[in-house]
Amino acid sequence: MEEYLLSGSILCGDDFEVVEGYICISDGVITDVCEEPGPVDALAHGIVVPCFVNAHTHIGDSVLKDPRVTDIASLVQPPDGLKHRVLRTTGMYDLVRAMQASIRDMAATGTCAFADFREGGLRGVQALQQAASCAPVDAVIFGRPAGDGGDGDDAYGMDDADMGGLTDLKDEIGSILGCAGGIGISSTNDYKDGVAAAIAEHARKCGGRFAIHAGELDSTDIKDALALNPDLLIHLTHASTNDLCQVSDHDIPVAVCLQSNLLTRVGIPPVETMFAAGVTVAAGTDNVMFNSVDMFAEMRFLSSVFTLSEQQVLGMCTRSGALALGLNCGIIEMGADANVMVLDKDSYNLVGARNILRSVVRRARAGDILFCSCGNV
Ligand SMILES: [Zn+2]
Repeated sequence: MEEYLLSGSILCGDDFEVVEGYICISDGVITDVCEEPGPVDALAHGIVVPCFVNAHTHIGDSVLKDPRVTDIASLVQPPDGLKHRVLRTTGMYDLVRAMQASIRDMAATGTCAFADFREGGLRGVQALQQAASCAPVDAVIFGRPAGDGGDGDDAYGMDDADMGGLTDLKDEIGSILGCAGGIGISSTNDYKDGVAAAIAEHARKCGGRFAIHAGELDSTDIKDALALNPDLLIHLTHASTNDLCQVSDHDIPVAVCLQSNLLTRVGIPPVETMFAAGVTVAAGTDNVMFNSVDMFAEMRFLSSVFTLSEQQVLGMCTRSGALALGLNCGIIEMGADANVMVLDKDSYNLVGARNILRSVVRRARAGDILFCSCGNV
């Protein structure tokens, strides 16, 4: 049995209340949170923070890190956006190696879990499974039917007169869900009538979750996405207050991707309105071709752009993502998985911090990590 203590200023519970003391960890679970400021024999001492949960990524495009950003459709839209063309010509070895680098980068920047939309059907999902064994970071995989067994994502799309038949689609979803936790697709606008609904329905029948992008470029696909009653919505950059009330009524979590939206100039997601409507709002770094997987940087952007409390911003990057994905982490409390990091309160960056929570949200960075349960730092 592996047991150890972490001590210092602990950001506890849903509100990240700062408690001076220590936490006990036994076999990967937080077994006690003690308010006792005196010295203890701890593995690390500093600011004890839950690790990040990155609620939306596409790490397959780690093979294409720095394209010139033009219009987003020509870069990412299936079937022939630049990313899909590059993925079609990338071999398995190079794809896995590139994804491993991004997963290791997550471990080095304090992320314990991520939800990835993995293109390329079953083969794409298997490549990510293979890559994910490189670091103790939990990969929640949303696969996507490709129709051709390859990285094309084309056989069920708009360009193909014959969508390959619903039987093939159902078979492929069944085989993807043998390896993945859910199905994640692009906009309903990228599919012929009825195909997105068939994918959602069959994903559920097979016991998988269904997630979808909506409202990224404009609002034209939001109503269609809501009609599918997804388990997770990505973006909603152009959602109206009315849309967000519906999202809240149906208890659908949303993953917003601020830096990605800023870089692609599609707009700024209405995050304050999401909170006002009672939506569970999580944060993701989105495509590796637009943005690194560093959640410290995403958190800083969120705190700079939106009028939110520090609790709300840190919650978006930790607990809300865990809730959206059904994970028992993103929070420091008894019984939670011990996915935690300890930051150096005497680093050049953090020394002298008077408001610990605000300093963590606004200025902490990977270089401040003394200890992290998901990586060797
Ligand atoms: Zn996405």
